[in-house]
Amino acid sequence: MQKQSYDYDYIIIGSGFGGSVSALRLSEKGYKVLVIEKGKKLTGEDFPKRNWNLKRWLWMPLFRFFGLFKITFFRHITVLSGTGVGGGSLVYANTLPVPKKEFFEAESWSHLADWQSELKNFYKTGLKMLGAEQNPQLETGDKALLKVAEDIGRKDHFETTNVAVYFGEPDVIVPDPYFKGKGPTRTGCIFCGGCMLGCKYNAKNTLDKNYLYLAQQAGAAIQPESGIYDVIPLDSSTGSQGYKVRWKSSTSIFSKKGDYTCRGIIFSGGVLGTIRLMLDLKQSSLPELSENIGTCIRTNSENLLGVTTFDKNTVFSDGIAIGSILHTGDNSHIEPVRYSAGSGFWRLMMAPVAPGRNMFIRILKIIAVTIKHPIKNFKIIFVRDWAKKTQILLFMQSINSHLRFSRRLFGLKSSVEKGEKPTAFIPEAVSLAKKFAGIVNGQPITLLTETLFGIPTTAHILGGAVMGENRKEGVIDKSGKVFGYENMFVCDGSMISANPGVNPALTILALSEYVMSKIPEKKKSSFK
Ligand SMILES: Cc1cc2nc3c(=O)[nH]c(=O)nc-3n(C[C@H](O)[C@H](O)[C@H](O)COP(=O)(O)OP(=O)(O)OC[C@H]3O[C@@H](n4cnc5c(N)ncnc54)[C@H](O)[C@@H]3O)c2cc1C
Ligand code: SF4
Repeated sequence: MQKQSYDYDYIIIGSGFGGSVSALRLSEKGYKVLVIEKGKKLTGEDFPKRNWNLKRWLWMPLFRFFGLFKITFFRHITVLSGTGVGGGSLVYANTLPVPKKEFFEAESWSHLADWQSELKNFYKTGLKMLGAEQNPQLETGDKALLKVAEDIGRKDHFETTNVAVYFGEPDVIVPDPYFKGKGPTRTGCIFCGGCMLGCKYNAKNTLDKNYLYLAQQAGAAIQPESGIYDVIPLDSSTGSQGYKVRWKSSTSIFSKKGDYTCRGIIFSGGVLGTIRLMLDLKQSSLPELSENIGTCIRTNSENLLGVTTFDKNTVFSDGIAIGSILHTGDNSHIEPVRYSAGSGFWRLMMAPVAPGRNMFIRILKIIAVTIKHPIKNFKIIFVRDWAKKTQILLFMQSINSHLRFSRRLFGLKSSVEKGEKPTAFIPEAVSLAKKFAGIVNGQPITLLTETLFGIPTTAHILGGAVMGENRKEGVIDKSGKVFGYENMFVCDGSMISANPGVNPALTILALSEYVMSKIPEKKKSSFK
């Protein structure tokens, strides 16, 4: 029988945390790899200096904005995510916490493995690959948070963040300090606060500077500006003979399309990319996918607040995006988050904190607060440099509630699957913001979508293709393999099967390393 030839051994859909780990580890194992990425290949020159430059900042193809940051609105949640070669690493705030033991022991997945010991070494690998270092300096917002920690008797629970940033000499270029000279040059961080706009200064250790860079050295190819829209098994309903993968341009106005054949597939499009694609494919080319796609969608139950100071000399925008963390309880944390000076876009979406049972009460409260303190509110709205004067506060907690994503005519829709629906009003978060405001002579504010509609915002969307013993329980097994198909894996935030309670990128990385460690070298596999 004639042996079938394939364009690639593995095609990876998406180049975020899961996709980048897969690209490097599969290439090292001798496989021929192609990474297909919907977003653009962006470099320091392409990133916006300020987030008012919407064309460079936002990913909104409808308006021909091809930046790195995407905002997606659902009925129960607003999701922030990244797009481009490097995925969410381009926009993320570099913070790399390891979750507490409750995550590894959560009922939802602890019957599958002893995750704490299985993943221990992969967390170490992830930290090393990302060049993680402790933030060396506390800035205004970090110092104020330390004061909050003292006031609530939790000084011992305050720490600087472990971050993926090169802190050499500010602005000095050095040969690769991480991979024995095989990686790209790095430049010392200048603490400009711009990490979430894409680092213009070559100091942030985004995935294109480590995993993807090394994957390319090992032979992997990357095709940006292309969205995968179909994955069709070849000659067999289970994909044992490989797949045809169809892509189309995500940036061209002409319908540029193509297809490739491959032996294996890795879904790494992030929760929004992978779940949407898998739900579509379940209805068409991959009917054997589990019915559970889109279930067990979790967030870190975040609350995004801000505090605008009235002090002339206080500046919050200097430093790295997140420089410290306070563990306010066993299951809750708060981090001060900053944008670079001049990046005041979010001021357009801010409103007074006005919790209440329904929108009517909340609107009345907003009006009451505005009338009661007209000068203060005027100053907040028209503050000269919003990013300099406003400290964003990101509060997170582990709550075991789930959403479900399902398909609608255009895109996805959310529904509540288990527990309470995510809430924009967490009394502990508001109380901490008020304490913080007292210290910096400021006033708490929050996102309009949170105050008016009660819809919280998350940058940490997880789940939707979770692990299980079988396809009735999950979409993938404990090794990331998709039930119902051969040589098909999920490696991204959608495989996270419990609430980590902290920023999840390192966990996605560690689990992806784990999944990849289970795939044999090409010469020992059925692909040889
Ligand atoms: C502003 C912000 C700050 C954050 N800060 C932190 C932080 O400090 N620490 C932390 O741990 N986490 C942080 N996060 C979260 C973190 O970025 C995400 O959890 C992480 O990026 C998810 O990784 P992933 O592998 O699931 O996919 P992603 O990183 O989301 O990458 C998926 C990629 O796949 C591409 N894609 C999707 N569909 C397709 C398709 N059909 N075809 C081709 N390509 C496709 C997308 O364009 C994207 O580039 C932050 C997120 C945001 C938005
Ligand atoms: S603070 Fe500025 S220089 Fe440092 S990593 Fe962030 S964006 Fe880059």
